Amino acid sequence: MRRNIVAGNWKMNNTLDEGLNLIKDINVNAKKTDVKGVQVIVATPFIHLAKAVEEAISPVRIAAQNCASEESGAYTGEVSAKMIRSTGTEYVIIGHSERRAYYGETDEILTKKVDQAIANKLYPIFCIGEVLDDRENDKHFEVVENQLKNALFHLSEKDFGRVILAYEPVWAIGTGKTASPEQAQEMHAFIRKVVAEKYNDKIADEVSILYGGSMKPANAKELVSQADVDGGLIGGASLNADDFFGIITAF
Ligand code: PEP
Repeated sequence: MRRNIVAGNWKMNNTLDEGLNLIKDINVNAKKTDVKGVQVIVATPFIHLAKAVEEAISPVRIAAQNCASEESGAYTGEVSAKMIRSTGTEYVIIGHSERRAYYGETDEILTKKVDQAIANKLYPIFCIGEVLDDRENDKHFEVVENQLKNALFHLSEKDFGRVILAYEPVWAIGTGKTASPEQAQEMHAFIRKVVAEKYNDKIADEVSILYGGSMKPANAKELVSQADVDGGLIGGASLNADDFFGIITAF
């Protein structure tokens, strides 16, 4: 059965103290809230990971926001999947549109990152999504299908089973513009169909597909009530524990 998941992506925000205080606030909310089986994930900057893992209480789990495409060696400034896993971190965001746009992460690089994550027993949260121009030119399905195929469809059924997908229309990220529930549902159903065609109905039915793009407490309920929307990847609204839980309790 697929899981409902709400994952916060702090991006490049929070000093170590600020981050640990936010984890503490999230723990307080988690204790007093019935999260109804929702898996809560917090993707912190690298420097927080080890301490965040120690601090977080169930059902809160920790993710990295990126990992290196190589295993180890002379790659100054990079952090490998193995190092991330060694902190107790279980998840890693791969292919976020900001990484694709600002750091030149191509499908080829992302394929290697996915392989590193899987080889080191991390669960990839793999981001896909079209830019505004693609949608306006009716290319959004094609773009998303290619992103899936090019970086993920070399995986075995077993390995694909570790992947969480996040559909994030780039025009909705940090812009305050949200995809309508109908637009989100249409794309999520399409993604599930593409996965079913490549693998099978069972795998397609079991993969969690999160929506990301200006999700907040006020619009979360409508989005997560769509049949194929299994949760959210949350940027801005994950920086405040009350807003974050306003989304978690939308289920
Ligand atoms: C994101 O960056 O993954 C994201 C969804 O950001 P925001 O919620 O701020 O749009």
